[in-house]
Order: sequence, then C-alpha cells, then structure tokens
Amino acid sequence: MKTKCPECGSDELVRDIPMSQAVEAGYAGLQYKTALLLSGTEPLLSDLCTQCGTVVRLHVKNPERKWETKN
Ligand SMILES: [Zn+2]
Repeated sequence: MKTKCPECGSDELVRDIPMSQAVEAGYAGLQYKTALLLSGTEPLLSDLCTQCGTVVRLHVKNPERKWETKN
C-alpha cells in the first residue's frame, strides 16, 4: 500500500520519522494521562515526501492512550 503525496503525486515518502524538536518542557508530541495522573508525551511520527518536502501525515505509535483534551 503506497501512499502518494497529495501535493506533487510522488510516492517517494519516508515514513515514521520521529519529531525530535525540543520545546521548553521536553519534546513536541501529544499528551496522554499515565496511571500516576502525570502527563506523558507520545512522540509524533511524520511521513515526509522527499520530492516536495510536504509532511503527508502525522501519527503516533500508540493511539489508544487516555488523551489529554481541553474539555
Ligand atoms: Zn510531494
């Protein structure tokens, strides 16, 4: 199953690149709740089109967390 870039139509995609851009409190990612009521951060993985540089997809490895939301 090959995904194509929606921008340029290329299938030259590199998958599951970790985002390691450090921000103040750690790493960029999505927050989830741990058993100790602390927040964890699930790293975002990117699929990148190497032809035009578009990040085609952002995803995480473990989608079944108890996610922090603003509600
Ligand atoms: Zn592209």
